[in-house]
Amino acid sequence: MSASWVPEGELPGFGIDHLPFGVFGPARHIGVAIEDHILDLTEGASDGLIDDPGGELGATELNPLMAAGPIRWASLRERVTEILVDESHRDRVTLVKRQGAQLHLPWRVADYVDFYSSLEHATNLGRMFRPDGEPLLPNWRHLPVAYHGRSGTVVVSGTEIRRPKGQTRPGQPGETPPFGPSRRLDIEAEVGFVVGVGSEIGTSVSPDAFSEHVFGVCLVNDWSARDIQAWEYVPLGPFLGKSFATSVAGWITPLAALPGARTTPPPQHPPPLDYLRDDEPWGLDLALEVRLNGTLISSPPFGEIYWTPGQQLAQMTINGASLSTGDLYASGTVSGNEPHQRGSLIELTWNGETSLTLENGEERTFLEDGDEVVISATAPSNSGDRIALGEVRGVIVP
Ligand code: CA
Repeated sequence: MSASWVPEGELPGFGIDHLPFGVFGPARHIGVAIEDHILDLTEGASDGLIDDPGGELGATELNPLMAAGPIRWASLRERVTEILVDESHRDRVTLVKRQGAQLHLPWRVADYVDFYSSLEHATNLGRMFRPDGEPLLPNWRHLPVAYHGRSGTVVVSGTEIRRPKGQTRPGQPGETPPFGPSRRLDIEAEVGFVVGVGSEIGTSVSPDAFSEHVFGVCLVNDWSARDIQAWEYVPLGPFLGKSFATSVAGWITPLAALPGARTTPPPQHPPPLDYLRDDEPWGLDLALEVRLNGTLISSPPFGEIYWTPGQQLAQMTINGASLSTGDLYASGTVSGNEPHQRGSLIELTWNGETSLTLENGEERTFLEDGDEVVISATAPSNSGDRIALGEVRGVIVP
């Protein structure tokens, strides 16, 4: 791939083979990240440098561009690449420094679905909460389990996370439940998929139609109040223990940046039903890292996740539920085989039985006020280098 005339950035992973989309600045322009800069696509379109017949680049959110579909996404990427490679465009484009630029939630979230696709995560939680039974429930290997989350509380990286309050389980059955701020506030390191092109209600989307519908990928932190969750979740599943906030990255990596990251997913036993079968199943070799107050506490491998992104999409629609532009579906907590690959504190501390020691000597089981969590990830790029997905960052406030 030809090099860009934009100087190499201090942080690697945002080169010409990546070009993630975001919405930035007080005027909410659409841009792509290139090295330490943002190329302003809204300005480029209004200057006539970038074709924008549908006006998608004049919007203050990515939804119109996402709805325009894969042919539009490909032609835009081709034009942006041309501009960033051919130095004759240098004086005609608007480049803004990424450092200090305000990033907004890049798209208006329609529905939000959260899966439970990691075999290791589901097994760890099963062992903790049902020590005498099979760790996996009977449905787990037959379908990607999920619940509907709250799209209105999806927030962009950097947004403060207010500690939720709520009811928790009484010490003794029959007692009044305690009420107050959560004391077991946790993270879930996840990978999210952003739907561009919707589907008709009453139809289903097969796993191999993934790239016709999905616009891009972003990191997700699905904040979770374990004490609220444990008391409320029977029998209808997660509710207030999850819905107070879900953080997503400010940069969405387009699928076109990820063919180099495609990997063979783990074998599935028993074989899934036909509607969950992909002709050529694939996962994404994303290497996640979770940092708590600067200390690396986990390195979850997304490439090992059991249910693939295509299967998750197929499961969401097999009953005829439609997709809408702006739908977000997330993988569920990504955990690997090794203890240092677990994507939540409840697994890393085994339900609070052990604690993590941070670099400054402090101990943690769950999050304290002022704690900052950063989830980042890299992946093999199309040029054999590595790209860095936009990080998702959040600080807990009382
Ligand atoms: Ca989750």
